[in-house]
Amino acid sequence: MTDHAIRSVLIVGGGTAGWMTAAALSRTVGPSVAITLIESDAIGTVGVGEATIPHISTFNRLLGIDEDDFLRQTRGTFKLGIQFTGWGQPDSSYIHPFGVYGVPMDAVAFHHYWYRLARDGSRTPLSDYSLACVAAKQGKFTRPLDIPKSPLSQIVYAFHIDASLYAGYLRQYAQARGVQRTEGRIVDVTLDSESGFVEFVTTETGSELHADLFIDCSGFRGLLIEQALKAGYIDWSDYLPCDRAVAAPSQRMDNLPPFTRSSAQKAGWQWRIPLQHRTGNGYVYSSKVIGDDEATDALIRNVEGPLSAEPRILRFLPGRRRFSWKKNVVAIGLSSGFIEPLESTSIHLIQSGIARLVALFPDRRFSPALISTYNRQSTSEIESILDFIILHYHANQRVGDSELWDYCREMALPDSLVERLALFRAGAQLFREGDELFSETSWLAVLHGQGIEPASYHPVADSVNQGELQKYLTGVRDVIQRSAHSMPVHADFVARHCAAEGTPPELSRTISSE
Ligand code: FAD
Repeated sequence: MTDHAIRSVLIVGGGTAGWMTAAALSRTVGPSVAITLIESDAIGTVGVGEATIPHISTFNRLLGIDEDDFLRQTRGTFKLGIQFTGWGQPDSSYIHPFGVYGVPMDAVAFHHYWYRLARDGSRTPLSDYSLACVAAKQGKFTRPLDIPKSPLSQIVYAFHIDASLYAGYLRQYAQARGVQRTEGRIVDVTLDSESGFVEFVTTETGSELHADLFIDCSGFRGLLIEQALKAGYIDWSDYLPCDRAVAAPSQRMDNLPPFTRSSAQKAGWQWRIPLQHRTGNGYVYSSKVIGDDEATDALIRNVEGPLSAEPRILRFLPGRRRFSWKKNVVAIGLSSGFIEPLESTSIHLIQSGIARLVALFPDRRFSPALISTYNRQSTSEIESILDFIILHYHANQRVGDSELWDYCREMALPDSLVERLALFRAGAQLFREGDELFSETSWLAVLHGQGIEPASYHPVADSVNQGELQKYLTGVRDVIQRSAHSMPVHADFVARHCAAEGTPPELSRTISSE
């Protein structure tokens, strides 16, 4: 340790972001740094954020936590993708799956061969070549099996978790590793008059909490990064017009579908997240199209079964903090920005913010090069996600449904998305730039799922004999069908491996018909 080493970290906020950060820092820099977390029960947390993407397994591995225990404690279930209903034509439905379509092909990506056969008259849906899609529709799930070359060895999955239980689970983990927790409301932030760095925060009882490094996990308010340091906010509401959500749980679904559902509605979209003990529901909407009461009524109408708690309204402004790291403050979680939850990316952004912070962990000289690297990488990551989310809205075919959908079809798009659409429309080309989060499979799922079709495909796909290609793809499809057939029902898998105390011991054997 040098004289300049960081000796103390104060994490401001105990939502998902605060406790994920505390857990990860306690596991990595923890032994040599004193970590304190302050949170205010009176203010509370956002408390939603229950669908994840597969990368969360990396975070679990970093912490060294047992996956079954994690699912029992958070009453979690498995997720193979997201079902989007009504995003293309109002009566359409597709699944954005985890994992890949088809199998690796010699020269060009699988989907070019699929488009070739489709042009030749084949009617087999693209989703038949995704094990995640086929299994999700049948309500099946298993973890990857050690069967070489089988699609069963390639299963990719994420989780649905109870957000409040997750924060509590990580809190236990972090406190067991030395993180100190303080309860109290911060009422003042004091900056050093020369450097402008945060020196300490003061609570309503007058306690002063000093640290070398401050992590702002205070949620939308951005207590340190914005209110104290004025980092600035870039507003994305021209691209993402939804600015509110109403959320409420309902009773558990016996068949536990292994996927999140996102159904497009007049003023936005509604989520459904199946957990072991309840179902999470919410309607994300534009306040320019409907009011809170109308949104709440629509949510109640669309939920299967009665609500089990009062609906809660959440307000947000989509966008990102101009700088996530300024001086000695790093913003992680909602304090650093928010893209709406359509593709369940917020928890992942927390995770990648933490990973970046650990990799670039500063000393008390706070090298400007470290800070600008952190900010550049954060911006590039969130902006690539932004393009993907905009695509869902832009590629809607809900003509005349409401001003929201008409606006989104016509709105000006970022240049990066315009180029991506042009490449796909011309020749079904899909490229992943740098470290961007969403793979070619994800882009294909949404482009094809919402009715954007390419004029052509890669010429190499024409060089194969049509009969042989048809035979090969039929074989791939059969293997996927047989693999899905052999998988257990998701609800049974959960009951056998990770049922939480108090959830019904014999979960339903009903196979989902969705
Ligand atoms: P918060 O939960 O708001 O926590 C802020 C913390 O700061 C609290 O502990 C609070 O007490 C503390 N605090 C604030 N001010 C003070 C003060 N003055 N003094 C002391 N303490 C203070 N993400 C996903 O990955 N998947 C999803 O499916 C998903 N769905 C979402 C749906 C909606 C409608 C919304 C709005 C978000 C969703 N998210 C989702 C995002 C997810 O909820 C957040 O990323 C996650 O909850 C992290 O929040 P946070 O910890 O940054 O902030």
